Amino acid sequence: MIVVTTDHAAHDPDAGAPLEGRRYWEVPARADALLQTVRAAGHQIVPHGDRGLDPISRLHDAGYLRFLKDGFATWRQEGGVGPALRPGAFAVRHLDRLPRSATAQAGYYLATLSAPLLAATWRAAYDAAQTALDGADLILQGERLAYALCRPPGHHACTDLAGGFCYLNNAAIAAQRLLDGGTGPVAILDFDVHHGNGTQQIFYERDDVHYVSVHGDPATLYPFYAGYADETGTGRGLGANLNLPLPPGTRDDGFVAAVRTGLDAIVSRRPTVLVVSLGFDAHEGDPTANLAASSEGFRAIGAALAQIGLPILLVQEGGYIVEKLPANLTAFLAGLGA
Ligand SMILES: [Zn+2]
Repeated sequence: MIVVTTDHAAHDPDAGAPLEGRRYWEVPARADALLQTVRAAGHQIVPHGDRGLDPISRLHDAGYLRFLKDGFATWRQEGGVGPALRPGAFAVRHLDRLPRSATAQAGYYLATLSAPLLAATWRAAYDAAQTALDGADLILQGERLAYALCRPPGHHACTDLAGGFCYLNNAAIAAQRLLDGGTGPVAILDFDVHHGNGTQQIFYERDDVHYVSVHGDPATLYPFYAGYADETGTGRGLGANLNLPLPPGTRDDGFVAAVRTGLDAIVSRRPTVLVVSLGFDAHEGDPTANLAASSEGFRAIGAALAQIGLPILLVQEGGYIVEKLPANLTAFLAGLGA
């Protein structure tokens, strides 16, 4: 397996701009732990390249990308003080105009306080997207399995909205790259414990990307406002979106069974390649979630993925118990036969 890595450490809200009274769980040590694991296992490791902004602009809104790139500097020029631009107000129902100031745009383009804009955020998000693009290109060149070790994660990022800990939707950008490279239909399996509302939004009206998500019930878990079973796509995309929410406390048996159900649905639509939004935050005790899977569950999921016989691009999403990440990744890859 080839692993593509990225430089992410400068984007560190926990060290540079913590929210008062709250830990910021999406820390650089996460990606470091995952990288050490694949390095120790002897996988080939390559740094990401730079394919420019065009493949990112295929999915993300131009004004949104401008804000992510320049918003922090503009905010400072406007008199903003401190290490992080966070919204003071949100563009929500009944309030949806887009003003020019960075302070105001923060509440338009950032859906949560957990996605602040730091001086280093754009570079890290851009490089993570490049990491995913390189992973897609490896698959296009004939690799059967590649791992884009992205940080920050991406699946909560919509066309023009950051959220969770996500800014650019790495998995979606990779899926589009695969399509543009001529693969034919792509499937995305997302078993990060949180519903990938960004990925769903990006492809909701399309039938060339089949999105399947297994996650904790959004009735009690972020992203709360999407991820329900009756969201199945619209227009041409009707039937190409499958949500499999699980009750709090679900253990390996229920979690793995739902992933198998999702894989059956994926196989029935005959995709040519599979992108996996790889999250380990369904693990019991994850500080951001409420399921109770174990490393053995991830091993079983890896084995189920190996059986479908498609080229697979792994794109890293969540997983916030840093000390459990090596065991979870090791078990998953062992199941996969990597
Ligand atoms: Zn997650």
